[in-house]
Amino acid sequence: MIMGSIGSNLQEVKRRIAAACASAGRDANKVTLLAVSKTFPAAAVRDAHAVGQREFGENYVQEALDKIDALADLRPGIEWHLIGPLQSNKTRPVAAAFDWVHSVDRLKIAQRLAEQRPPELPPLNLCLQVNISHEPSKSGVLPADALALAQAVAALPAARVRLRGLMAIPEPQPGAPLAVQQAPHRALRELMATMQARGLALDTLSMGMSTDLEAALAEGATCVRVGTAVFGQRPAAADAGG
Ligand SMILES: *Cc1c(COP(=O)(O)O)cnc(C)c1O
Repeated sequence: MIMGSIGSNLQEVKRRIAAACASAGRDANKVTLLAVSKTFPAAAVRDAHAVGQREFGENYVQEALDKIDALADLRPGIEWHLIGPLQSNKTRPVAAAFDWVHSVDRLKIAQRLAEQRPPELPPLNLCLQVNISHEPSKSGVLPADALALAQAVAALPAARVRLRGLMAIPEPQPGAPLAVQQAPHRALRELMATMQARGLALDTLSMGMSTDLEAALAEGATCVRVGTAVFGQRPAAADAGG
């Protein structure tokens, strides 16, 4: 893939988002573009910030903490989202440094984040990661267990954590008909609708990446997480833990 500058890449991704929203009759201003900066240096994040990007997604806790530290001068005009797996022994620094965690897949993690969120900060925003396609190798709560987990997380102290919605990483199906590509995104949207019907106040559907953002937006994604199309190709090995 031939990549332009971060600024022109961001413009192109925004054009894709606007086109997908237009064909779905949706307001593109209500979609958050999360620029996924994993494996890219703090300088690349600074470049994206300089052209107006404010929300960044990171996968690896230590790498992210180093970057957040290096870019502390950009606070509060920058927002950090953890989108990668979170082990319970890493929750404390995450609770202190991030604005969002999209990858909550069990109650223990949410409980620790609630206990460890510094009280002087606003509540940490949480999404539950759902293994929407029941892939054996994927992390995330199974759809059948998601409602119970959402109810338990929503009951944690509201001053510390706020359950905002659901996140999924559907397997890309390049070349498949759009209806096939949209099936997992639709399943996630329907799962969130079930939760809303049960009284949970959720407003975030985190789904869609560089190759499937159109399918995700057609099914109601409110947050797309885009790495490659913004920053360029990552070294292949860097995707292993995702
Ligand atoms: C890496 C990653 C992305 C971005 O993927 P691209 O295909 O590079 O856009 C989005 N979400 C998660 C959870 C990731 O790990």
